[in-house]
Amino acid sequence: ITVPKIVILGAGYGGIMTAIKLQKELGYNEANVTLVNKHDYHYMTTHLHMPAAGTGNADQARVSITRLIDEFKIDFVKSTVVQIKANERKIILEDGSLSFDYLVVALGGEAETFGIPGLQQHSLRIRSINSVRFIREHIRYQFARYKLEPERSDYLTFVVGGAGFTGIEFAGELADRIPKLCKQFDVDPKLVKLVLIEAGPTALPGFAPELADYAMKVLAHKGVTFKIGTAIRECRADGVVLADGETVKSATVIWTGGIRGNRLVEQAGFETVRGRVKVDAFLRAQEKEHVYVVGDCSLVTGPQDKPYPPTAQLAIQQGAACAFNLVAAIRGEAPREFKFSGKGVVASLGKGEAIGIVLGKTYKGGKAAVMKKLIDLRYLYAIGGIPLVLRKMRL
Ligand code: FAD
Repeated sequence: ITVPKIVILGAGYGGIMTAIKLQKELGYNEANVTLVNKHDYHYMTTHLHMPAAGTGNADQARVSITRLIDEFKIDFVKSTVVQIKANERKIILEDGSLSFDYLVVALGGEAETFGIPGLQQHSLRIRSINSVRFIREHIRYQFARYKLEPERSDYLTFVVGGAGFTGIEFAGELADRIPKLCKQFDVDPKLVKLVLIEAGPTALPGFAPELADYAMKVLAHKGVTFKIGTAIRECRADGVVLADGETVKSATVIWTGGIRGNRLVEQAGFETVRGRVKVDAFLRAQEKEHVYVVGDCSLVTGPQDKPYPPTAQLAIQQGAACAFNLVAAIRGEAPREFKFSGKGVVASLGKGEAIGIVLGKTYKGGKAAVMKKLIDLRYLYAIGGIPLVLRKMRL
C-alpha cells in the first residue's frame, strides 16, 4: 500500500511543533513524514539576543533535532532547500530532491532592510546560531582592536537599528555585557557608546506606552542612548548616516528593524505580502490545498482583518493546528479553523528586568523577568518534556 508523503520544510518553532504533533497522532503506517532543516539542531530564536551579546551560551538556545523526533515515524534530512515546486509537488534541495503529497512550509523569516543602502552588506543580524556566534566574537574583537588603535573610538560605538522587541532585548543584554568587556580589555567604560536608533515615533510599538517608557528608562540607566523618530538613511562600513544628516561612526551595526518572509516562498510563486503567504482559515495556501504555511512565512489575519505580528507563539500554535489538519486530511475528516489565542508578550531588558502583558495583566521588573523564564521553560517542556527542561537548566 502507498501512504501519503508529508514533507515539512524548516525545523523552527512552526516546523518542529508540526512534526512533534504529527508523530504523536499518526500511526506507524499512516504517512511518510520527512522533516528538512539546514542544521541538525532546532534553535530558539527567542533566546538568541543573549548569546549574541555574550551574556548567554549558544548551546542553551539549541537542541539536537534527533532528540525531539521519533525516527521510526519521521525521517530527518539535514539539507538546505533551494526551490519549492508546489504544483509539481517537488522540493529541490542543495543535494537532491523530494516529492510530496502534502507540504508544510515553515522556513521562517529573514531581515527586511527596506532597501536602505548598505544595510544588507554592512549590518549584522540576529537570526541564527551561526550569526549570533559571529556577533559575539565581533563585539569582543572591537575591544581588542581599540587597545591597539586608541584613536579609533568608533570601535567602541555599537549601533542597534530598530527599537522593536529584538532591538530592545539585545540592547539590554549588551548593556549588561559591556562593563565586563571593559574590565577584561582594560577599557574606560565612559568611552563605550551603545546607540539604539528607531525610525518610528516610539520604541516597542505594540506595547502600552507605560511599559515602553519603563523599558527605555531601564535601558537609559544602563547607558543606552536612544534616537527615536530618526531613520537610518544609509549604512556604511564605518557607521550609519541618519535622516537628520548626523553620522554615527561605528564598526558595529546590528540591524533588528524588520522581518519579512523567506524569499524562497516568494520565488515559488505564492501570492505574498513581504514574503508572507496569506493562508486560508485552515493554514493552506490559496488554491494550493496540499500546501500548508506556518510561522514567519505565513500571514494570518485576526480581528478587523489586521495581520498578527509574526511571533514564536503564533508559529507554535499554527504548527499544532497544521498537524491536526494534516491528520484530518489523510483520514478524510473535516479540518478545523485556526484561531490564534494570544497569551501575551514579555520582553527582557537584561538581567532580572523585563516588561510584559500576560493574560491581560501588566508586569514590570523582576516579576516580568520570572514570567519570561517560565515561558521559556514551558516551551522546552512542550517539545522535549522534563528531561529537556533539566538538561537546559544545567547549561
Ligand atoms: P524559525 O523559528 O525562524 O525557523 C525556521 C527554520 O527553517 C530554521 O530552523 C532555519 O534554519 C530553517 N531554514 C531556513 N531556511 C532554510 C532552507 N533554505 N533550507 C532548510 N532549512 C531552512 N517571538 C515571540 O513570540 N516571543 C519572543 O520573545 C521573541 N523573541 C525574539 C527574539 C529575537 C532575537 C528574534 C530574532 C525573534 C523573536 N521572536 C519572538 C520572533 C520568533 O522568533 C519568530 O516569529 C519565530 O522564530 C518564527 O518561527 P518559524 O517556525 O516561522 O521560523
